[in-house]
Amino acid sequence: MNKEDLSPEFLELLKSVTEKRPKQVIDHILEHGYITQEDLQEKYGYTHGPRAAKDVRDKGIPLETFRVKSSNGRSIGAYRFGDFSKVRNGVLGGRKVFSKEFKKELLDISGEKCNICHTCYEERYLQIDHRVPYEVSGDEKDFNDTKKYMLVCGTCNRQKSWSCEHCENWNNEKDPDVCKTCYWGSPEKYKHIALREMRRVNLVFERDEIELYKKLKKGAEKDSYPIDEYIKNILRSK
Ligand SMILES: [Zn+2]
Ligand SMILES: [Zn+2]
Repeated sequence: MNKEDLSPEFLELLKSVTEKRPKQVIDHILEHGYITQEDLQEKYGYTHGPRAAKDVRDKGIPLETFRVKSSNGRSIGAYRFGDFSKVRNGVLGGRKVFSKEFKKELLDISGEKCNICHTCYEERYLQIDHRVPYEVSGDEKDFNDTKKYMLVCGTCNRQKSWSCEHCENWNNEKDPDVCKTCYWGSPEKYKHIALREMRRVNLVFERDEIELYKKLKKGAEKDSYPIDEYIKNILRSK
């Protein structure tokens, strides 16, 4: 594939990606025509190819999978750009290329912060996340339904990807109801985290709350516990 074969519109979209990880993948495909699992691992440190593809597809860029021979003759997966002309009405192989307005709606609902870790982020650092992964939900039609999406930071999005990819439901059952009761799909109210019986609290101290944190840290040091254990101890003694 030559750069010349790509429409100016598509090149424009490719150039608009500035985040380091997807950009590396895009630049590699632009230069070599495709990228293999081997390249992803050895050149770019991706341990999991599908995650690299997700990073790129999340930017609205179609990728197709095909197989090539690795340097030692094994058959391995590779990615190349898909047919951009198939991106119609903002919908791309089941994935929405989101409008600025849609992101604004989500910002109005939850503010400029990550729905998972509750850390405040500028709008550009928040990503639109489909609560139930596409791999489980399949091709959903209601792309304008803000209830199906949430804004998350890059760190939490990555943690979610890792956790979901190691979840039995994601890999086999693919039951959307399981994801709807999972922390990663519904951090506000959940029954499990990727099918494990777990609960999580993300505590962030900001501005005048730093004093509270200092108090915790002092107490924890005095009792020689890590802060999280110290908090649990306080609750146990109640
Ligand atoms: Zn987060
Ligand atoms: Zn999951």
